[in-house]
Amino acid sequence: MTVTDCPTLADVYAARARIGGRAIRSPLIRSQALGRLTGAEVFLKLETLQPTGSFKVRGAANKILSLSREEKSRGVIAFSTGNHGRAVASVARAENLPAVVCLSERVPGYRLEAMRELGAEVVAFGQSQDEAFRRALEIQGERGLAMVAPFDDPLVIAGQGTMALEIAESLPGLASLIVPLSGGGLFSGVALAAKAINPRIEMVGVSMAVAPAMARSLEAGRPVEIPERDSLADALLGGIGLENRFTFRLTQKYLDRIVLVSEEEIAAAMAHAFARERLVVEGSGAVGIAAILAGKARPKGPAALILSGGNVDPGLLHSLVGQAMKKDPVA
Ligand SMILES: *Cc1c(COP(=O)(O)O)cnc(C)c1O
Repeated sequence: MTVTDCPTLADVYAARARIGGRAIRSPLIRSQALGRLTGAEVFLKLETLQPTGSFKVRGAANKILSLSREEKSRGVIAFSTGNHGRAVASVARAENLPAVVCLSERVPGYRLEAMRELGAEVVAFGQSQDEAFRRALEIQGERGLAMVAPFDDPLVIAGQGTMALEIAESLPGLASLIVPLSGGGLFSGVALAAKAINPRIEMVGVSMAVAPAMARSLEAGRPVEIPERDSLADALLGGIGLENRFTFRLTQKYLDRIVLVSEEEIAAAMAHAFARERLVVEGSGAVGIAAILAGKARPKGPAALILSGGNVDPGLLHSLVGQAMKKDPVA
């Protein structure tokens, strides 16, 4: 990684100017319930309300809008556990370019359908994100498409970082940022912007305990592969890539603390979001709430939690809320 490749705060500002028409400035709301629980001011950044239901549209739009006219005419390809593919498909359609999305056969069917509805050609292949990635590389070579990587690309990272500008402008005294962490595109972008604005902001990453690829890689001091498992946080599944160029080092540099949450804690957080905050949040988007409810993140206020996505199967959410209400009717 040369220094010039690595995204900077200036790239994040450039991204903000570029993506304005495709991503919204999402609301930042105060959570009374989490405030009472922690004794700190806690704010929720509602990326659940972005077009296509997750923050991924920020990075996808920044990358696609930066392509040359010639690259655009050939089209784009992505590999994804779901939300990234959906964002790429949506931006490509809005820009009138063809899109192919490769994903593993483990990705739930409702996520595939969402991408087909957006006009993308969907290719389901293999049992992991890494296998889907290898297939995407083959198709990319055959057709000369531009790859829109889900996290390890400076333009994608800078796009995700735009939300940190919004949070810092709304909360000048921000002390902690609590961010879902998988491949680390979201974390890297948000952290590099937040730390450039104020190096004292504490950056907390939250992953699911069953398959935390970034946590294991940080322990090993290099990117490692771990077996994929089923998780309520399905958008956090997948490795960080053995050839990782940016997000591993950026996460290593900026992470102050990492928290791992269990499946039960994620379920409780999704139910809390629905019953107490009146918000529909998918498992991956709820890991920050899970960390707070479980007492694993004790943020100094004001703290902001990124609720990264809301694309949850309604039947699953219904049953999780039902189970939580049985245990604790006032939840
Ligand atoms: C992709 C995704 C994440 C994780 O983002 P990374 O950049 O891979 O760390 C978190 N939450 C949701 C909803 C996502 O779609």
